[in-house]
Amino acid sequence: MSSLLDLWVTKDIVGGRFIYEDPDFDFKSPYFSSASILINVDLAKLESAFSPKSNWLLPWHQRKYYCPECLTDDVRSGRYPSWRKSWCYALNSHCHFHRKQLFTYPGQLSADKAWDAFADYANSKNFYLHKDSNWSYSTPAALRYLLQLKALRLAGAGPSSYGKSAKNARAFVFFKFVAQIFLQARTVNTPAGAARHLFSSGRLYVNRSLSGYPDALEAGSLESNSHERMCGVILAGFIFSFYTRRDLEVARRIYAFTGYYFPDDKYRLGFMSFDFLYKDDYLYVKSLFFKFPATLLKKVKRFVDGIDAANSGRFI
Ligand SMILES: [Zn+2]
Repeated sequence: MSSLLDLWVTKDIVGGRFIYEDPDFDFKSPYFSSASILINVDLAKLESAFSPKSNWLLPWHQRKYYCPECLTDDVRSGRYPSWRKSWCYALNSHCHFHRKQLFTYPGQLSADKAWDAFADYANSKNFYLHKDSNWSYSTPAALRYLLQLKALRLAGAGPSSYGKSAKNARAFVFFKFVAQIFLQARTVNTPAGAARHLFSSGRLYVNRSLSGYPDALEAGSLESNSHERMCGVILAGFIFSFYTRRDLEVARRIYAFTGYYFPDDKYRLGFMSFDFLYKDDYLYVKSLFFKFPATLLKKVKRFVDGIDAANSGRFI
């Protein structure tokens, strides 16, 4: 009898492996439709049962972040290791089961990437995280986990709170936008987002001749590694006042531990997040802010004031 694994070998496979399709999300893929025939379940039912919990997915080539403990648990339990869909959402930087920051699988991605990543990890080749930042390997991981988890939960994007209501959905889109600002890619005309230059080396670079500022904003968040995305979420949580005084004390302890300077002021964070070369880019960001209702804008007023202070004098 044929198995699901046999079905991977179809005309859409290059070198015996899937290259462009992800059966976890591409319901129209030959693999997914073949699987529905093999197990005799209606494709529409499978689609509704396995629909993604967030529409902010990492692009296919970025679905390379994984939890080695989940994969190891699979193997220990006698299961073939499987890639978790939750690792593929742009805001998820951690495994919420093991409370660990996701590792990067450095090899070529395929439909069999869960096994490949497990084998890579088991052979101790992938022992690193993202060592371009002190935050990534020398700080109390549990504290970082709690800070990002709190921001996600209050933004309506926690492990069990996706899209609870239309009101929450609007607030989530606003949170996503601010997180994107902190993750924006560096171009010849714009600095890297604060999540990059504060906590990482800021090295993601988008060629301005190929991509305009809106692309740099979008690409920055989707091309970020799990560590940078975590920093973006924590910074956005700070701007939205999700943290109590005690939470901020925890954050300060981390900063003291790593020696990283954190501007504990929303106005200054806005001021240093943008240094636009073009008036159009500045007006574009302003227009995005004004798409949101005044009640939400009020929450980030100090941050927006900082952006204005850094730019309006030069352009208006
Ligand atoms: Zn895990």
